[in-house]
Amino acid sequence: MAIFETEALVLRTYNLAEADKIVVCLSRSAGLIRGVAKGCRKLKNRFGASLEPFTLIDLTYYEKENQELVSFRQTEILRSRFNLSSNASILTGFSYMGDLLIDFSPPHQANDNLYRMALACFEAASEAPADLEPVLRYFEVWLLKIEGFLPDLRACANCHRPFGDETIYSGSDLSLRCAQCSGGRGTSISKQVYSQLRATEKLPPAKFAQETREASSETKKQMAELMFQMIGRVLERMPRIRPNV
Ligand SMILES: [Zn+2]
Repeated sequence: MAIFETEALVLRTYNLAEADKIVVCLSRSAGLIRGVAKGCRKLKNRFGASLEPFTLIDLTYYEKENQELVSFRQTEILRSRFNLSSNASILTGFSYMGDLLIDFSPPHQANDNLYRMALACFEAASEAPADLEPVLRYFEVWLLKIEGFLPDLRACANCHRPFGDETIYSGSDLSLRCAQCSGGRGTSISKQVYSQLRATEKLPPAKFAQETREASSETKKQMAELMFQMIGRVLERMPRIRPNV
């Protein structure tokens, strides 16, 4: 049995037996891990409030060879989100990000880029809850990018001509094509949505959110729809939660 320590973000918990929980978290050094926290539902227990979803913790756990479930030994809260626990839209948005992290992350595979991006998004929305919507869009684009599903944003997938001012089309294979190559098939992407997509490449999530605050509700809607469709195509189903933002 080996013992490990890592920083981790709690994503979801399930009750187990009478007093335990299964905790799913995204950890910095071991990627997605599922563990049992024994006795954590007893009144007095060593985990306290640390296993509440979206808490950032310092986690010590045991791992047995060939067992996917690890055993939580000790936790320490690094960042609590208790102050947001009455904000329903934030909780829905966080659950949505948590679900996607679980869907997209293979267990026990550290991915530092994904971990840092996820953490930055949770932080940005915690700091400015009103910016939840653009933070979710940023998260979706980067999740697809880090996991290798984001199409090339710069040039047509068919003729490789760099995109200019023309309307771009997103095909069912996730690729982006110029008007000519697409023959007008697929979802058209407006100039405003395209510039938001490109802006995610250059900015951290909080800054992206600030810069897109002025976007029209139509652009926001189109961006949300495009990302939701892309994620649905990768998952081959629609995400379980659709944040009502
Ligand atoms: Zn083309």
